[in-house]
Amino acid sequence: MISEEEARKKILDGTQSLPARRLPLSQALGYFAAEDYLSRLPLPTFDNSAMDGYAVIASSCKKGQRLRVSGEQPAGPELRLRVSPGQAVRIFTGAPMPAGADAIVMQEDVTRDGDEMVINTDVETGEFVRRRGCDLAEGQKILGKGERIGPASIALLASQGFADVMIGGEVKAGILSTGDELVKPGGKLEPGQIYESNLALLNALLQRCGAIVKSEEHCRDERESLIEAIKRGIKNNVLIISGGVSVGEHDLVKDALHELGVQIDIWRVAIKPGKPFVFGQLNECAVFGLPGNPVSAFVTFLQFVRPAILKMMGATNLDLPQVPAKLTVDLTNDGDRAHYIRGRLEHGRFTPVGRQESHALFGLSQSNALLRLALGQSLKADEIVDVQAWDS
Ligand code: AMP
Ligand code: MG
Repeated sequence: MISEEEARKKILDGTQSLPARRLPLSQALGYFAAEDYLSRLPLPTFDNSAMDGYAVIASSCKKGQRLRVSGEQPAGPELRLRVSPGQAVRIFTGAPMPAGADAIVMQEDVTRDGDEMVINTDVETGEFVRRRGCDLAEGQKILGKGERIGPASIALLASQGFADVMIGGEVKAGILSTGDELVKPGGKLEPGQIYESNLALLNALLQRCGAIVKSEEHCRDERESLIEAIKRGIKNNVLIISGGVSVGEHDLVKDALHELGVQIDIWRVAIKPGKPFVFGQLNECAVFGLPGNPVSAFVTFLQFVRPAILKMMGATNLDLPQVPAKLTVDLTNDGDRAHYIRGRLEHGRFTPVGRQESHALFGLSQSNALLRLALGQSLKADEIVDVQAWDS
């Protein structure tokens, strides 16, 4: 049995980033930038009006002043208008500032009178003018290699004229669940059988990482079918096998992997839930054998599979978001492995929820964060701890 840290290191050493690809901006959400992006244009790109109103010269305006409206500048065409003292130009939000003007008076602060208008307010230089480059300078880094591309980054890239973006590689994943007791949801349960839920769980977790689920199958605890199913699964970049990695007579996964020449780098990690865990490699495929118990599969996926997939996709940050929270109860780990407590993070407070047992799927479904209790660690209520917010 190896430590979590060793396991994570072996897994990350054994996985490589996949080749980058170009995607239209509209499809890039959630992926990772494969290169640094620098701004091509300042933002705003030219001085423009922040309001519908009148462009004026502040020093020649005061409350009650009457000005002649000498022209109109809409957003879009640059009409090369000029404002002289005693004049104003009608202007609209986003329209370029006319030459000479240094302030905008909102239309609400003006009484219009034919070709003239009266200003009903004091005017300060720069008021309601959006200056070229005040938000972003040209050549500034707008997205770093390995950063996740979110909605605002997509908008920023678009504002710079990028129609597409280089992103990290596509991870194709296969999922294989094992167990004679399992019935596909929708089918009829016989006594002793349960519905298969790990395929659904792993599919959802993979999707959330941004991996593409290429194959999903269930296999009986039967050596030959297992070998055939694994052969199909290892055509992917990642194969995740659920169940059958423990020490019972029906736990055939490890032997099947051996038989196929998979180099097994890890078997059993000091983590609770999740001790029976396998990591191996064959050709270009990283093979993960997760425990069948749903909570164990969930925890080992987040701690070991997720970072590997993110690395393959070109991410820099492979960790779950760590959030400080006030613990609401005392907790002690007197077991022999690090313990991941499932709990609810709400308003900065973390409370364990449900049965802390590896089969307790309902409890897991009520949680949104994990607290890692190291070996021998004791925590007191009201202590501030870092929790992994996996549902954010
Ligand atoms: P195993 O790791 O195969 O020994 O399975 C451990 C426990 O997890 C057993 O109670 C199984 O019935 C359960 N289990 C295994 N695979 C699944 C699955 N795909 N969906 C739901 N429960 C499962
Ligand atoms: Mg089984």
